[in-house]
Amino acid sequence: MQRLKQLIKSFSLWELLIGLKLTGRYFFKRKVTIQYPEEKTPTSVRFRGIHAQRRYPNGEERCIACKLCEAVCPALAITIEAEPREDGSRRTTLYDIDLFKCVYCGFCEEACPVDAIVLTRFADYHMENRGENILTKEKLLAIGDEFESVIAKDRAEDARYR
Ligand code: SF4
Ligand code: SF4
Repeated sequence: MQRLKQLIKSFSLWELLIGLKLTGRYFFKRKVTIQYPEEKTPTSVRFRGIHAQRRYPNGEERCIACKLCEAVCPALAITIEAEPREDGSRRTTLYDIDLFKCVYCGFCEEACPVDAIVLTRFADYHMENRGENILTKEKLLAIGDEFESVIAKDRAEDARYR
């Protein structure tokens, strides 16, 4: 009897019909897929994409080389060298983030006392050449300059929920 049932199922393509039933159920439902990269899903103000270094409105870099971000980074992805300027202020001479090591935990952002290092919403990046995984200070500041308006808005929005 069991064998007969199996035979009928095989000839009537029963499994295929079960599959088509599932397809039919979702065919007219609202689509959840999007046409990336033309379309994008909404992201949180706390989204942790590529890093950026911020400046003050007068153009001065925020980072005071306290190295808290370097100390807190669990992946040892941040390398900082610093020395005092002529005016006595302390600034970094080297600030590198190795994107291959980074785990995008956001601890550096949390630790920074002056809101200098942040993780942006921008995540559409790639590397083509050896060494491009190192985000130098110049690259970080350039990213910061490009996205400052979005970063400032996100930080203000985030502060409302803290
Ligand atoms: S996001 Fe986390 S892992 Fe990446 S640099 Fe910052 S502290 Fe290190
Ligand atoms: S980015 Fe912030 S935490 Fe890191 S060294 Fe600069 S001021 Fe300190």
